[in-house]
Amino acid sequence: MELHERLQINKSTLTEREPLAASLLEWYDQNKREMPWRATKDNRPTPYQVWVSEIMLQQTRVEAVREYYKRFISALPDVAALAAAPEDQLLKLWEGLGYYSRVRNMGKAARVVMEEYGGELPADWNQLLKLPGIGVYTAGAIASIAFGIPVPAPDGNVFRVLSRLLGSFAGLGDAKVKAAFGEVAARMMPPNRPGDFNQSLMELGATVCLPNGAPLCDRCPWQKACIACREESWPRLPVLPQKKPRRVEERTILLLASEKGLLLSRRPAKGLLAGLPEPLNLEGSRSPVELSELVEELGGQLGQVEELGKAVHIFSHIEWQMEGYAGWTSSFLPPEPYFWAEAQQLRRELAIPSAFKAYREAIWQLLEEESVSS
Ligand code: SF4
Repeated sequence: MELHERLQINKSTLTEREPLAASLLEWYDQNKREMPWRATKDNRPTPYQVWVSEIMLQQTRVEAVREYYKRFISALPDVAALAAAPEDQLLKLWEGLGYYSRVRNMGKAARVVMEEYGGELPADWNQLLKLPGIGVYTAGAIASIAFGIPVPAPDGNVFRVLSRLLGSFAGLGDAKVKAAFGEVAARMMPPNRPGDFNQSLMELGATVCLPNGAPLCDRCPWQKACIACREESWPRLPVLPQKKPRRVEERTILLLASEKGLLLSRRPAKGLLAGLPEPLNLEGSRSPVELSELVEELGGQLGQVEELGKAVHIFSHIEWQMEGYAGWTSSFLPPEPYFWAEAQQLRRELAIPSAFKAYREAIWQLLEEESVSS
């Protein structure tokens, strides 16, 4: 099937819009945002820096990534440092970004790069794609931005911009359609500026052809050529796959403190928040009496209990509806996988997932009180 057929558009729609790169690059040169990982006159980011920034940008907005990026690069400035970093350090540097498997995969990939490529990321799209955690998008971004290889980097922004430009109603739930948009980007790409072209598409999607709310077409270099703008079909584009409804889970969170610190456990090695430390996190809604029984089973004696209120955390496919409590106990030797963590250890070494951010203040207050009273 030909490219235009896969995108459900006329052939002429495609060919007429292929020469649009120059106007986009001109717009990009004037409007790109300054970012610590972007090339400036005196500084070109290393492949490693592009890799770190691209993985982080899959998690959250540019503004939020800046600080994370600076902290990560200053702690782990190159592939060798990343390969040698203990897992808890990686998780701590990632704390709050979510999708912790991504930083774990970066650690794994860094070790492969040390063993197989002498510590330098390979300047080859196929070899990049074989590294743990590097998919089509990231491989394209590193190859084009860091090495100048003319390959596309199709992400959500690119799919949205191109769907609208071409007025394509082909559904993005189909991998062949996504690949087709990648081919469109490759056909439009000028061979002398592949990295800038990919970044300009992403930048246009992030700042002008917005995902939520109306696109800012009057600021867009492609306004005249854009079919969705002309036909006002942008609210229906791109055609995204249907999301599965989220499973709602009731949870009870108990912040249990003793003079030894806060009681934590490690989550299972696979699945949601794999391997991360968390406070007592129980299925269902539990009464203070049930919490007291549970603490007794662990070997403690629950004293005064304080209600911390409700909180909700939404993962991609699960929603936790939590009810929080803080409680005090005299210290005891907890069974595996529970352990006590002191305030310093929590601040410096352990990453508490942002699912519990509603209770973060209460954790610090509890630990302060414990250190004052002990
Ligand atoms: Fe998006 Fe509007 Fe530009 Fe079309 S003209 S690509 S809808 S911002």
